[in-house]
Amino acid sequence: MTTLDQTPVTALRGIGAQMRDKLARIGITTVQDILFHLPLRYMDRTRLTPIGSLQPNSDAVIEGEIKGADVVFGRRRSLICKVQDNTGVVTLRFFHFGAAQRSNLTTGAKIRCFGEVRRGSAGLELYHPEYKFLADHTPDPMAQYLTPVYPASEGLTQNRLRTIATQALTLADASSLVELLPAQIVPANFKNTQQTSLSEALQFLHQPPADAPVELLAQGQHPAQQRLALEELLAHHLSLQRLRQEIRQHQAPILLVEPSLNTQFLDHLPFTLTNAQQQVSKEIAADIAQPIPMLRLLQGDVGSGKTVVAAQAALQAVASGYQAALMAPTEILAEQHRLNFENWFSPLNIKVAWLTGKQKGKARAAILEIIANGTAQLIIGTHALFQDDVIFHKLGLTIIDEQHRFGVHQRLALREKGSGANAMPHQLIMTATPIPRTLAMSVYADLDFSVIDELPTGRQPINTVAIPDQRRDEVIARIRAACSDGHQAYWVCTLIEESDVLEAQAAEVTADELKLLLPELRVGLVHGRLKAVDKTRAMDAFKNAELDLLIATTVIEVGVDVPNASLMIIENPERLGLAQLHQLRGRVGRGHIASHCVLIYATPLSQRSKERINILRQTNDGFIIAEQDLKLRGPGEVLGTRQTGELNLRIADLERDAHLLESIKAIAAELMRDYPQTISPIIRRWLGEKERYGQV
Ligand code: ADP
Ligand code: MG
Repeated sequence: MTTLDQTPVTALRGIGAQMRDKLARIGITTVQDILFHLPLRYMDRTRLTPIGSLQPNSDAVIEGEIKGADVVFGRRRSLICKVQDNTGVVTLRFFHFGAAQRSNLTTGAKIRCFGEVRRGSAGLELYHPEYKFLADHTPDPMAQYLTPVYPASEGLTQNRLRTIATQALTLADASSLVELLPAQIVPANFKNTQQTSLSEALQFLHQPPADAPVELLAQGQHPAQQRLALEELLAHHLSLQRLRQEIRQHQAPILLVEPSLNTQFLDHLPFTLTNAQQQVSKEIAADIAQPIPMLRLLQGDVGSGKTVVAAQAALQAVASGYQAALMAPTEILAEQHRLNFENWFSPLNIKVAWLTGKQKGKARAAILEIIANGTAQLIIGTHALFQDDVIFHKLGLTIIDEQHRFGVHQRLALREKGSGANAMPHQLIMTATPIPRTLAMSVYADLDFSVIDELPTGRQPINTVAIPDQRRDEVIARIRAACSDGHQAYWVCTLIEESDVLEAQAAEVTADELKLLLPELRVGLVHGRLKAVDKTRAMDAFKNAELDLLIATTVIEVGVDVPNASLMIIENPERLGLAQLHQLRGRVGRGHIASHCVLIYATPLSQRSKERINILRQTNDGFIIAEQDLKLRGPGEVLGTRQTGELNLRIADLERDAHLLESIKAIAAELMRDYPQTISPIIRRWLGEKERYGQV
C-alpha cells in the first residue's frame, strides 16, 4: 500500500507538470502535503443574506437581478453594477475589469455574489466580489461547508486549491492516511475531542460544517487543529530523542580528571568556585569519564562563571591526551577566551592555539598544522573552527559558548567534527540566555541540562534606570562621575536595521560627540566593521584601563569581561529584546563595585516598551527576564529566528501550542516504551525522509 506521503500530487486528476511546479514552489509535492496545507481562514458561503439586511464590514453571499452596469470615473476608474432582490439594492464595485466583464453584466441577469460588504460612496458596496450567473430554473445549491482560504501564491487560485484539497481528502478517506497514534494514547490528552483521528481532523479543517466555531478556528485552538499540532510537535520531539539515542550509540573517549593538574589550576584562580560551579563541574566530569558522547547544555546567567567550568572540562580532556575545542560566536569573545585560557593554561604547560576566519596564508597553515599534529591542545576560535580544512588530531571535547548565537545546524555540524567511524567527541554547550523549560523540551530535546543558579559572592546587583533622550546631560554627568572614581563605562549604540554599516557609523558619530563633551576622558571605539587588530587593540586598552569610556555596538553583547567597568549606557533600548539587553547589562556588575545601567530611550515610549524596560529595572534574574521575553515577543525572538525557523513547523506554533509540550513529553516516553514501531512512521510523516538533524 502506498501512503499519501509517497503519492505525488500528479496522481490527482488534472495536475500536470505546470501545476506540479507551482505547488512545489509552496512546498507541496505529495498528496499528504496538500492535506497538511491548512486553510488560513474560512468564509461562510453556506447561507444567503437578503440585500436589505447586509451589514458593513462583513462577508456575505447575496443573490439578485442586475439593474445595470456602468464605468464611473471617480478618484479611480471603476466598474459598478447594481444588484437588487426584493429587500433592497446593493452596488458591486470593481477596480480591475475588462470590456468583456462589463458587457457580461447584462441588465436582468440573475447573479450570486460573494464578497466583503463596505460602506461606499453609493451606499453599501461589495468590493471585487466573486460572482456567478444563475440559470433561470435550476436551483443552485449553497455551499455545504465553510469555504477555506488557503495560503496561496502566484498562479494558484483559491478555487484550484479547493478542488485539489477536495480530491486529496477522498484519497485520505480511502485508508491510506494511516492513524499512527495508538487510540489509547490520544484520548487521554484530548478528552473533549471528537476528532481524534488524523483523517477526521483533516476532513474537518478543510471542510468545516456550516456551524463550526470560527472563532476557535481562527485562534488555532480547535481540537482538530490541536490534534494535528500535537502530532507534529511529537514528531519533532521524537526525532530529537532518536538523534540523541543514535549519538549515544557512538563511542566517546574516556576523559579522566587528573587531580594534581586540576588542583594546580584551581590554586591559581583568584577566587574559589561557587557551589553551583562545583556541582556542575562534577556533573560534566562524570559525563565525560564515560565512553558515551556527552551532550550537555550548561545554562547560567550572565556573569555566573561558566568559563572556568568549561576550562576544567578542557583540562580533563587534555590530561587524558585529547584535544579540546572552544567555539565562540564573535571574534572579540574568542580573543578574550584566548587571553584567559593562556593565562590559566600556560603555567600548566598546555598549548593554546587560536583560529579565526581572518587568519590567512602562512599563519593559517601554521595553525592548521599544529591542530592536525596534536601540538595544539586547546583550540579556541570562531566558527572558522569548523571549516573543512581544519583537521583535529584527537578531538575529545568540543565546547560551544553562547550557543544561542549559533543555529541548530552549526551546533550539530560541530558534533560531526572529530567524529571517527564510530567515535564522537563529547559536547558542552553554554548559554547565558536561559531557555524556558517548555521551549527547551522542543528545541533541545536531544540534550541534558545543567544550570549554574548562583552568582559568585560579593556581586552587587546592577541598578537599572531609564532616562529620556532629552536628559542626555545627566547621563554625561554620570559618566564623568564614574570615571573620575577610577571606574570605566560602556556606551552602546543600537540600530533598528541589522545593518552593521549603519550601526558602525552611529557609533562613530556618538564617539566624536562624547569626545567633545568629555574631553578629560580617554574614549575608545569598537564595532563590527573594524579590522580585527583594531578591535583587539581597543578591547585590550579598555581591559587594561587605558580607556575610560568605550563606545561600542552590540558586538560586545556576549562574554566581554572587564570587572572594573561599572557603568553601562544603552541607547534606544526599545530596539533590542529583553534577553539581549540583559546580556549587555551583564557587562557591568562583574566586580565588587556597585554598578549601574542607564537606558536612554527616545520619547514617546510605547506602552509595550515601557513594560519591557520596567521588567529590566525590576529584576536582574535572567530566567525571569527570559520568561517575560517569551511572553512579550514569542519563541522566535527569544531563541533567535534561526533556531525556531529550522524547526520548519507546518501546523504547530511553538507559542500558541506551548501548553501541549508537557503532554508530548509523556506521550513520547510512552511511545518509546510501548509502541516503538510507530516512531519512525511518525517522524517520516512530519519531517520527511531527510534525517533532519543528521549530517549537515
Ligand atoms: P559567564 O558565565 O557570563 O560566561 P564568566 O565565566 O565570564 O561568566 O565569569 C564572569 C567573571 O566572574 C569573570 O571575571 C570570572 O573570572 C569571574 N568568576 C568566575 N567564577 C567566579 C567565582 N567563583 N568567584 C568570583 N569570581 C568568579
Ligand atoms: Mg561567558
